[in-house]
Amino acid sequence: MELNKYQATPIQRLSENLNNNSYYIKRDDLIPISFGGNKARKAVLFFEDLILTKSDCVVTYGSSSSNHCRVIANISAAKGIPCHIISPTVSSYPTTNSEMIKLFGAFVTKCPVSQVSTTIERKMDELRAKGYNPYFIQGGGHGDIGTQSYINAYEEIVDYEKSSGMYFDYIFHTSGTGTTQAGLVCGKILHGDEREIIGISNARKNPNGSQVVLESVNSYLLSQNKEPIVSEAIVFIDDYVLDGYGSHNDKILQTIRDVLIKDGIPMDTTYTGKAFWGMQEYIKKNHITDKKILFIHTGGTPLFFDKLEDLNDER
Ligand SMILES: *Cc1c(COP(=O)(O)O)cnc(C)c1O
Repeated sequence: MELNKYQATPIQRLSENLNNNSYYIKRDDLIPISFGGNKARKAVLFFEDLILTKSDCVVTYGSSSSNHCRVIANISAAKGIPCHIISPTVSSYPTTNSEMIKLFGAFVTKCPVSQVSTTIERKMDELRAKGYNPYFIQGGGHGDIGTQSYINAYEEIVDYEKSSGMYFDYIFHTSGTGTTQAGLVCGKILHGDEREIIGISNARKNPNGSQVVLESVNSYLLSQNKEPIVSEAIVFIDDYVLDGYGSHNDKILQTIRDVLIKDGIPMDTTYTGKAFWGMQEYIKKNHITDKKILFIHTGGTPLFFDKLEDLNDER
């Protein structure tokens, strides 16, 4: 498996024309490793670091529907590295991702949410005692390395703009742990750009949600000896989380059908479909018109298949 040989992901025009804006989508779902997505973009850099630190097994965290755990388990299997996943008992129902995690031979340890950090520590100690040099990756690929991967994505966007002669006024995307947003915001700061980067939360509420993004941005900037920024610079919108992680409504299902039918692009109810709907609502509410808007497709294709029946049923 070659991890660092893929090109910039495509940017395509969408048929959407709400408020006379033009809409484009950056297809990070097409990163050619393990069904792509932002977790694949992050994982590539984590595995570079794993090799640099001469680690020989992985420990990470996530639910049974985790895109992150699927990608990490896939790459680990390809490299012949044992992969240990700590998973909260509450969200351990089978999904397309959990079936693949099984297929990749990852070792899953379930525990109550309250015991996650002690279970991770115990697993790390146990592996060290067995003579391993375990590499820990935070849930969702959070941390400076994950942030770096979305600075790289920002560079791809700037390159696209240079070659096409256009400029995106807004970049929208789903914000979860906030690492994707932190990388895009850092990229914008490093380039001195003025545009708005708007993270549509799929679960977290403010002030915590935007605080985590801010901490990630400043952690990265400080590591590069740059000035930290203030919270006003983070636009983390929590108006469209509904009842939190995984909750969705009929409008989201309709948005997913529309984009799939008109543009042939699959989105899911937990992340991208929910944020795309949230973006439309945000654009209406804030009367944004005649702008160039880029939406980042952060992946989650296996989740699309988990909800395919709902897309047909609830018509
Ligand atoms: C994890 C995930 C996100 C959220 O990314 P963060 O970097 O955690 O904010 C968005 N979309 C998809 C498909 C994901 O799997």
